[in-house]
Amino acid sequence: MGVAQVQNELSVYQSMAARFDTAAEKLKLDEGLKKYLRTPNREIIVHIPVLMDSGQLEVFDGFRVQHSIARGPAKGGIRYSPDVTLDEIRGLAAEMTWKCAVVNIPFGGAKGGIICDPNQLSLGELERITRRYTAEILDYIGPERDVPAPDMNTNEQTMAWIMDTYSMHVRHTVTASVTGKPLDLGGSRGRREATGRGCMIVCHEALKRFGRRIDTTRVIIQGFGNVGSQAARLMYEAGYKIIGVADVHGGIFNTHGLDIHALIDYVSEHKTVVGFPDGESIGNQEILEQDCDVLIPAATESVITSKNADRIKARILVEGANSPTTPPADDILFDRGVFVVPDILANAGGVTVSYFEWVQDRQGYFWPEVDVNERLKHIQVSAFNDVVRYGEKHNVNNRIAAYMLAIDRVSFSLKLRGIYA
Ligand code: NAD
Repeated sequence: MGVAQVQNELSVYQSMAARFDTAAEKLKLDEGLKKYLRTPNREIIVHIPVLMDSGQLEVFDGFRVQHSIARGPAKGGIRYSPDVTLDEIRGLAAEMTWKCAVVNIPFGGAKGGIICDPNQLSLGELERITRRYTAEILDYIGPERDVPAPDMNTNEQTMAWIMDTYSMHVRHTVTASVTGKPLDLGGSRGRREATGRGCMIVCHEALKRFGRRIDTTRVIIQGFGNVGSQAARLMYEAGYKIIGVADVHGGIFNTHGLDIHALIDYVSEHKTVVGFPDGESIGNQEILEQDCDVLIPAATESVITSKNADRIKARILVEGANSPTTPPADDILFDRGVFVVPDILANAGGVTVSYFEWVQDRQGYFWPEVDVNERLKHIQVSAFNDVVRYGEKHNVNNRIAAYMLAIDRVSFSLKLRGIYA
């Protein structure tokens, strides 16, 4: 559960379901189809025995939920966290289906998780957990079935272990079995920056709609991990003024703009933005409510709720994280005229370049970074325009428009295939 969910807002799954219901109703979706699309295809629960460094045997619980394979293999990240639940994974898996459909790439949706605290585990323990989890779900994954990727607390190394374990079992190297791998093992150029780059691309498009200039646009970013730090760096280099950044330990704020290159160096040494000399310290929730033009929540879910949505001052919200805004907060933001670029559009750069990685692995032919970035831009800009136009046509906000567009595409594929019922 997200931090703010404790304050009685909807869970990730409930939020997804509420938005799905609204969109499905507007689309006048058939009741049976609605029931089918709301339900995941498959939910796998595994219990993972792991020999700890102490010599003790420990058992961890893991999940993999495949929501849909209607448009192609299931696709989605794996997160390691002490708080991860099946319900959360179920919601995130469905969101992956909608995300892949919004950017129109040939994947379905999945998500995985293991209940563990990676900070308390040695590298060897993490490797053993990852390999045994992979072995437990092996029959259900693979380049044609379900392709995992990194998510919270998993990274390129985790993907290398999954790829190796999968390959050992099938007796040949299958680089396309996961994405987000190291470059030397069939990873794609540009994958590491892709989600942050995608956030920047949709932000540029949003600014164009308002006739705004990049160099006078003030940005605040919550989260300074893969998504937040890359978005900050790329946007800083593009000329945006990044006035606030926060991580799990706290935030820093400078109305004149932060030097993001210096901040990245500081974080690589101190492991947090806290204490960066060229800014004032600020709380990591408080930062969301500061005056700015663009707010990018890029940390965790349910940080913008009915409790703080009326205090958000940004004109544009670009959702780098998954599910950072709850449905009650959506309504408040919409009434206040905040232009929301919803998660399933804003952070789809990661899965789009994962798709490129999968394609490159299957072709055995790797593209220069400039081609990856150009193709990513083309897809994100088209998806942005599709969503905004859909919203205008149906008179709904961007979030519901993105859901409607995605559900429309997935149900069209299902109708073409026919439901094997
Ligand atoms: P990460 O683990 O690399 O970084 C997370 C960052 O958020 C860290 O800086 C952490 O300190 C910070 N954080 C955590 N809780 C916080 C809090 N309560 N307040 C402020 N900061 C907090 O994770 P990531 O890969 O950057 O992912 C961030 C979000 O983006 C997640 O919701 C993830 O599902 C989503 N996402 C990631 C990708 C990707 O390609 N990595 C793609 C799509 C969506």
